[in-house]
Amino acid sequence: MTRTWITGGRLPTGRIVDIAAVGGVIESVDDHDPAREEGDDLHEWLLLPPMTEPHAHLDKVLTAEAVQNPTGDLEGAVDAWSAAAAAGRFTAEDVIERATTAIELLLASGVTAVRTHVNTTPEVGATNVRALQKVREAFVGLVDLQIVALTRGPMVGPGSAPDQKALAAAVAAGADVVGGCPHLAERATESVTYAFEVAAEAGLAIDLHTDETLDPSVLTILDMVEQVHTTGFSGLVSASHCVSLGAQSLDAQQRIAERIATAGIAILPQPQTNLYLQGRDHRTATPRGLTAIRSLVEAGVLVAAGADNVQDPYNLVGRSDPLETAALLVMAGHVLPDDAYAMVSNNGRKALGLAPVNFRAGDPADFVAVDAPSIRGAIADAPRSRRVYRAGRLVASSDQQMSVHRRADT
Ligand SMILES: [Zn+2]
Repeated sequence: MTRTWITGGRLPTGRIVDIAAVGGVIESVDDHDPAREEGDDLHEWLLLPPMTEPHAHLDKVLTAEAVQNPTGDLEGAVDAWSAAAAAGRFTAEDVIERATTAIELLLASGVTAVRTHVNTTPEVGATNVRALQKVREAFVGLVDLQIVALTRGPMVGPGSAPDQKALAAAVAAGADVVGGCPHLAERATESVTYAFEVAAEAGLAIDLHTDETLDPSVLTILDMVEQVHTTGFSGLVSASHCVSLGAQSLDAQQRIAERIATAGIAILPQPQTNLYLQGRDHRTATPRGLTAIRSLVEAGVLVAAGADNVQDPYNLVGRSDPLETAALLVMAGHVLPDDAYAMVSNNGRKALGLAPVNFRAGDPADFVAVDAPSIRGAIADAPRSRRVYRAGRLVASSDQQMSVHRRADT
């Protein structure tokens, strides 16, 4: 097998290293040898584990102009999107085109693994799942893409048959993960049970939109904990958002966090979108809409953060760059920079069932080099000068240029 060299990368410890990669994994990490002439020279750029986007909506991405959300909150976004979808505004070709653009932007930022939720409603069935599978084929060897079948209507009870049928179609089409929004359902607990049943039968992972509300009485995360314990569910389980956990008393946060840790559920906060959507009714001391990150981390819960929606009716902004998410974790979540970077890189890989990259022999030869002095500096400046490697091969590069044109003095 061919050996490739990536030389002159600077680990966060300050050590300058040369990396040899063989067969897609790191063979060795040695002190930099200036005499080595082969391979790519990273010119002492900061060498980091690859970034991960553990929660995207690639069927909705980049539609901010096409679908207006007049209220700016979650309900308004859901209504606006549902009306547009029911009117047949989005074809599979359109989804493929926008998703492709979004993944290219993520890849150029340093992302080599993405989990996307896709609407799996009675109107679209498995259409979006199939569209994203086509996108995945186009990125083989560049980006790992996991597809979550996101049911929106009732999962159980009256009127649920069309949604159950759509979910079954998505699972049959090859969705990787069972998703849904049980906290929006009238029968929330039963909906969680149903999601676990479907996932267990199909041998899939679970990632539910969980408690995306500031109402502290909504706590379906406890139903998920209960399901893991009573069913012995062995697949990967993630709970995205968990906004209402952040609205609990500290004592309650800590007790619940311990239970989440015991159940092995990964919690995926989405600071960008929840800062945008939540708290619009609170004109003073507006809450941030984030989960109880500190209590979760202290309890030993795996916490990985994503951007969620990007430039669509759920979130008008977003740069498809996990360093933006990391900056919000630092500013709004009070997470230290190194921990924030872990939440948008290796923690996301673990939540997605991928091996972390710690620059040891045998690790995947996936990494990103950033022209930055430190992890803090990378998050603060988010410089566009980056090199992205997958399986030891350069797969994306971007460069930032800046010039200051001073007035010419005579
Ligand atoms: Zn989401």
